[in-house]
Amino acid sequence: MRNALGLMVASVVAAVVIAAGGWFYYSSRADQAAPRTTAARAADPLPAQAKLAAKDDVETTAALAARPAAPAPAPAPAPALPVQQKSTCANPNALGVARVVEIDTTGGPGFGFEHFKQFDFLTDKEVVLTFDDGPWPVNTPAVLKALADECTKGLFFSVGKHATYHPEILRQVLAQGHTVGAHTWSHVNLNSKKMTEQQAKDEVEKGFSAVKFALGTNPAPFFRFPQLQHNPAIVSYFGTRNVAMFSTDVDSFDFRKGSTPEKIVETVMTKLDKLGKGIILMHDFQKHTGEALPALLARLKAGGYKVVQMKAKTTFQTLPEYDEALLKDLKVPTSSARPISSVVQTVSQ
Ligand SMILES: [Zn+2]
Repeated sequence: MRNALGLMVASVVAAVVIAAGGWFYYSSRADQAAPRTTAARAADPLPAQAKLAAKDDVETTAALAARPAAPAPAPAPAPALPVQQKSTCANPNALGVARVVEIDTTGGPGFGFEHFKQFDFLTDKEVVLTFDDGPWPVNTPAVLKALADECTKGLFFSVGKHATYHPEILRQVLAQGHTVGAHTWSHVNLNSKKMTEQQAKDEVEKGFSAVKFALGTNPAPFFRFPQLQHNPAIVSYFGTRNVAMFSTDVDSFDFRKGSTPEKIVETVMTKLDKLGKGIILMHDFQKHTGEALPALLARLKAGGYKVVQMKAKTTFQTLPEYDEALLKDLKVPTSSARPISSVVQTVSQ
């Protein structure tokens, strides 16, 4: 029988279960977000990094935009999680996390002194580890392993397209306790003269919808502009959408041509030792970054630096029209894209 009490015990699916000894993350929609087919992976040239490196100072926009459009992921359901994470750190000498800060994103605050100087929240020797452009096979897992080995946490700005190619990798990022924000749908320069305000908004909103689709839950309302190109209209827009914007204090230049793990470590440490603290910009999309990270984290620890993790007070609320447009793009059948809780509800027990 349907009754009010029965409706009240309707099951909730996208849930984070915190239990002693570990926590488990279950996603509903994420399980619908299938990885790309083998054919799609083969058609997508992985050596995008070679192209990226060739752009030297210019970050990834051109190379990413030049990549062929990925076919829609197959709608077959991905294997069910849960992903388990150890709650204790196995490494007694780990860098760890010294402090967790929660950001109230109301009004769209900005962080990173290269562009935003209002909120000087880090104290001497404190750093924030940030990673852009993923998720990407091999490279993102290498970054995750290096962070896990040091029991420390980062902040990831995912490209929407990449999130739809590799949702399973992005779910791992979240499951391992890192913060996940967005970095547009296709990594275009939002400040380009060719870009209309509507197109820029579409890039932002679709990017967030894609990250949500991949994660199966709302991302943090955290955003980084590709190439740190801050479109003034979108900066204002984020004020109304309550999205925090992230620039940087220390650019690792890990995307540059000729970058090596050694150069990345030296670049970061030289700048950090001068500034004394800061938000470090890296790319989990880049092969050398994951390779550099174990040595970089060791240098940070030896230098007395402490990692601060940034979390958001609330989550980003996507706009339904962009969620729907994304599903159409990806050719995901509507029924399989619905959360289980909207299809199956316990009404009587
Ligand atoms: Zn980027």
